[in-house]
Amino acid sequence: MKLWTNGFFHSLDEGKIYLKMTTHQGKIVCFDEDCGHRHYDEVIDLEGAHVYPGFVDAHMHLLGYGQKLKRPSLSALKTKDEVLTRLKEAFHHEPLFAEGYRECGITKEDLDMISTSHPIMIRHNDYHSVTANSYVLNHIHLTHTNGVLTEEDATLAMKTWPPYTIKQLEDILETSLKSLYSYGITGAHSDDLSYFIGFKDTLQAFENVLERMPFRAHLLMHYDILDDYLSSGKSFLDQHAYLQLGAIKMFYDGTLSSQTAWMKTTYRSHNHHGLKIQTDQAFLDMVKKCRQHDLPVAIHVIGDQGLVDVCKVLQKYPVKTGLHDRIIHAPWADLEGIELMKKLPIVIDIQPQFLSSDLPWALSFIHETPPFVFPWKTYLKHGLIQAGSSDAPVEIPNPLLGMYASIYRISDHDQKPYFTDESLSIDEAIDIYTKGANYPTYDQKRGSLKIGYIADLTIFDNDLKTFKKHDFLEQKVKMTVINEIIVYKR
Ligand SMILES: [Zn+2]
Repeated sequence: MKLWTNGFFHSLDEGKIYLKMTTHQGKIVCFDEDCGHRHYDEVIDLEGAHVYPGFVDAHMHLLGYGQKLKRPSLSALKTKDEVLTRLKEAFHHEPLFAEGYRECGITKEDLDMISTSHPIMIRHNDYHSVTANSYVLNHIHLTHTNGVLTEEDATLAMKTWPPYTIKQLEDILETSLKSLYSYGITGAHSDDLSYFIGFKDTLQAFENVLERMPFRAHLLMHYDILDDYLSSGKSFLDQHAYLQLGAIKMFYDGTLSSQTAWMKTTYRSHNHHGLKIQTDQAFLDMVKKCRQHDLPVAIHVIGDQGLVDVCKVLQKYPVKTGLHDRIIHAPWADLEGIELMKKLPIVIDIQPQFLSSDLPWALSFIHETPPFVFPWKTYLKHGLIQAGSSDAPVEIPNPLLGMYASIYRISDHDQKPYFTDESLSIDEAIDIYTKGANYPTYDQKRGSLKIGYIADLTIFDNDLKTFKKHDFLEQKVKMTVINEIIVYKR
């Protein structure tokens, strides 16, 4: 039994704040005077710190994030020269894979200057494109391109990379979790199981790491591995306290930056509406197959027309009563899409930091701005449930940055606020990373500090409600606790 004392415990339950808390076997036992004189194995003095229910990232890629931390990063580089210099430094006559590239005109010719005798690939920051050198392109018979590959072609190129061992994946996952602990993240909903070494072995890597590192991992299952999951005989959701298997992940469209989000308006450069990842019939068949097995779906959709199309399919083939589907992203919407979503049992996984990264330039790609842009307040007003996330490695998985973006809506490019009618309050911002992000776990005892709830805590020196604008960018987590175990201390 542990006593946590000298802190401010923000229950997120009708605004109640406690000053003391007892935990036992990973659960919250009591608060304040009820803590009384018990035999405590440990007393933790929080030195006046502010304690929140553990922050959860509702959509990210745990392995992709670990991989990004381990590979050369291009994300801070803006010019072609800077990127090429960094790549030359990182090239050691071995295959070279760099992450986080922000488009600045690099082609296969540039990469061929570094090497044509080893594979070189750089992954674009939106994760839907890569640029490859001739070595890779020859391998996949795409020699007629300039080396910039999107969607299917990008996936084809990725598959030429040598596969990891289970041990290597464990190492990547450990790197990822350590970094997440330092941001106060106690759990994540992650899409990893299809991209590495198959469902079974990738899941094994998770099992092995979670045995030594506590973390609430909720793993979406990509449609590609649905059959592997079905034949594994594993149940949906809980495997144990740290591992859940979640909804079936699929893509409906692409991204706005790749001009592949399926929009009602048209793109200026091509005068088309975007790209659907598969035909309507194929998408319908995928959803129907999930329903045959009573499984919910988690659908990546960015365009406003895509959102409408997806909702209509979900309406026609509803999920089993008691379960809900997930809409991932939905940054652009109109009233038709919103009205459709309201009729469905869904959660929207939102990424506030995308606003800062994508606006205002995303607006310049399209002819007409949809009625609602990153419309978190509107979604809230319509009673839609939103779960906060970073889509790391696309964005940094620091919930304070997500809260900052959801409250101030400031662009990284011009430092101006955009569509501030849609700003969340600090309470609403905290909610999306706690209650909202835990909603898709179907575990009622997560996301608040209440008796019987899990003892997962994110702890700061100061009260988040007193944070000034710059605090969200500068303050650091003091302590992270999972299952009453301190996993990180600054
Ligand atoms: Zn994602």
